[in-house]
Amino acid sequence: MASILALAACSANNDPVPEPVPEPVPDEQMTPAETPTPAPKSTATAPIAPVVDLHVDTITMMINEGVPWTSPKLEASLPALQEAGVNVVVQAAWIERGAEDPRGMALGKVRRIRAMVEQSHGAAAIVTGPEQLERVIAEGRIAVILAIEGGTALTDGEATVRELHALGVRMIGLTWSESSPYADSSAEPRPGDAGGLTDEGKAMVALCNDLGILLDVSHMSDRATADVLALSRAPVLASHSNAQAVRDVPRNLNDELLAGIAARGGLVGAMFHGPFVAGSEEVTREHAVAMVLALEKRVGADYVGIGTDFDGIIAAPEGLASARDLPSLYDDLRAAGLSSEALAAIRGGSFVRFWKAADSARTRP
Ligand SMILES: [Zn+2]
Repeated sequence: MASILALAACSANNDPVPEPVPEPVPDEQMTPAETPTPAPKSTATAPIAPVVDLHVDTITMMINEGVPWTSPKLEASLPALQEAGVNVVVQAAWIERGAEDPRGMALGKVRRIRAMVEQSHGAAAIVTGPEQLERVIAEGRIAVILAIEGGTALTDGEATVRELHALGVRMIGLTWSESSPYADSSAEPRPGDAGGLTDEGKAMVALCNDLGILLDVSHMSDRATADVLALSRAPVLASHSNAQAVRDVPRNLNDELLAGIAARGGLVGAMFHGPFVAGSEEVTREHAVAMVLALEKRVGADYVGIGTDFDGIIAAPEGLASARDLPSLYDDLRAAGLSSEALAAIRGGSFVRFWKAADSARTRP
C-alpha cells in the first residue's frame, strides 16, 4: 500500500496538494543493502507476449521513504517485478504541484532512476527505442523506459526537452494535475476555446514527434487530449487512464477520446487507483478486471495495455496490491473470457506494436 507521502503521482482531480518531496538522499544511501536476484539470461528470441507496466511512480516512493528498489515497502520493487514476470516498466519522474525548481526535480529523478537501474547489477536496463527494447527483453532483463509526468518540468522549452532526451527520456506527459504552460490538466480545464494546448504546447507536440518522445495524454484535459490527437504525427498513449463510461471522473477518458486514441494507432493503459476504477468504497481486483474488459470492448485489445500506477496510488484494489498480483489479474482476465491473443496484447504486446509505430514518425536521431 502506498504511503500517503507518495500519494501524488496518481492524480485525482480533487487530490489534496501532495506533501513536499524531501531532498533526494545521495545515491550511495540508496544502494540496495541486498543484492537483487540476478536476471535469468536467455539466448532465445524475444517472447511473443512481453509483460509491460506503462506507469509506476517507484522513484518518488523510493525518495520519500529512503528505500532501495529492492525494498518490500514498494509495490513495484525489483523483486516484485521479477516475480511477476514483468519485462518492461515505464518509470515516471513525477513533478509535484508548485515545485520550486520543477526542471531540477525532473532531472534529479531521472538521474535517480538511472542510478537505480545501474545498481540492479544487470537485472534491468534503460531502453530508448523499440529495437533495444526487444533486445533487452530477449536477454531476460527488465527494460526501463524513462518518463516525465508533468509539463511544468519543461521550464526552458526545447532546451529542457533536449536535456531530458539526452538522459534517455522517451515519454512525456505535458501535464499532471497542475496545468502547465503547454496544456490544461483534467483537474484544471479552462472553458471553451481557452482550454487545450497552448501555442507552446503545439510546438512541443511537434518537437516530441521529431525526437521520438512518446506523448502521454493521461492527466490532460479533454480538449488538450483532442488537440494532441489532432496534431501529433505519431500515435499517442494514455499511459494510465480508465474509461469514463465505467467510472465517471474527469481523470478518465470518454468514449470519443478512447476511440480517437485507438483510431490513430495509440494505446490506453488501464490504471488501478481505486477511486478511478470504481465508485464503491471497496474496490477489488474484480473491478479492475471489469475496467480492463470495458476498455478492450471499446477499442480492442491491440490498443489496450496496463499502467498500474503502483507506488503512486493511494488506494490499490483489494487483491491487486502490488506487481506480485499481476499474474492473478491476467488469470482473471483469461477466466473472464479474453482470448490468448487478446490477453497477450493487453499484457504488453500492444505496447511493442505502439512504440514501433510511434517511433517511425521520428525525424531526428
Ligand atoms: Zn498519474
